[in-house]
Amino acid sequence: MAFVIDGKKISQEIKEELKEQVTALREEGKEIALAVIQVGEDPASSVYVGNKKKACAYIGIRSESYELPETVTQEELIALIERLNRDDKINGILVQLPLPDHIDEDAVIKSIAPSKDVDGFHPESVGALLIGQAGFLPCTPAGIIQLLKRSNIEITGKECVVIGRSNIVGKPMAVLLLRENGTVTITHSRTRNLKEVCKRADILVVAVGKPKMINREYVKEGATVIDVGIHRNAENKLCGDVDYEDVFPVAGAITPVPGGVGPMTIAMLMNNCVSGAMH
Ligand code: NDP
Repeated sequence: MAFVIDGKKISQEIKEELKEQVTALREEGKEIALAVIQVGEDPASSVYVGNKKKACAYIGIRSESYELPETVTQEELIALIERLNRDDKINGILVQLPLPDHIDEDAVIKSIAPSKDVDGFHPESVGALLIGQAGFLPCTPAGIIQLLKRSNIEITGKECVVIGRSNIVGKPMAVLLLRENGTVTITHSRTRNLKEVCKRADILVVAVGKPKMINREYVKEGATVIDVGIHRNAENKLCGDVDYEDVFPVAGAITPVPGGVGPMTIAMLMNNCVSGAMH
């Protein structure tokens, strides 16, 4: 039976620590502010943006909302970002993705000043991560490292297998596990013998984007299983990429969905806002 890694509790601990740091900064006369930009009215994006603003309010970070119409042009959006880049009162800029098809996401991400890139998606942040320099870390993988560390799960020397190679989860996850001295394998849709490769893992991070795809046939007895996936099933219930009920009896530790990786992403975003303001 697996130990359940409680992302809700760990994210709350991090938020409490950040709240203290923000209070201390405020006593020195320093206010932290995050600009949150949403284009259009996609309901899922509105939920994410709402949760991020709520977390800001809880910690004591001022959030400035920019709700732009679906029809906004790329030039108008980039002009807003450039204005926020120059605004000394703004420490972080977050553009909620995905953007409408007529806007080039890469161009928008590149227009954010790396010093305010709290999502860690700017090529400069990604490059810094790869060569081990200081910079903003992407929130979901950074949150997973915190889940492991705060659950006393050793990474050094462990076989770590990541399923998925996206720029926001899989690739940075692999780099962070490597930085923590894991022996890392990245798998994807062209990987042969996925089950056998996954079964080698002491730590298996699943970011495949397929509901309940990973069952116990992919999991070594006693392995730590981190489920990044978020899906809603027909009954509107949340589930992950891992078949939790099936894997739970064989895993050594496992993250639930909801209450695992999800809350950590926002906590690490808050962490980036605070650490950005401290430098
Ligand atoms: P993507 O769709 O960008 O990437 C999925 C990856 O899985 C790709 O690299 C793909 O391979 C690989 N893949 C797809 N099918 C298979 C297969 N059958 N076997 C092996 N590999 C396969 O997803 P994201 O990385 O953006 O997200 C992954 C999941 O995490 C989603 O459910 C998403 O909703 C969730 N998510 C959760 C977050 C959180 O805060 N908890 C944050 C971000 C994402 P290939 O490259 O070859 O196509």
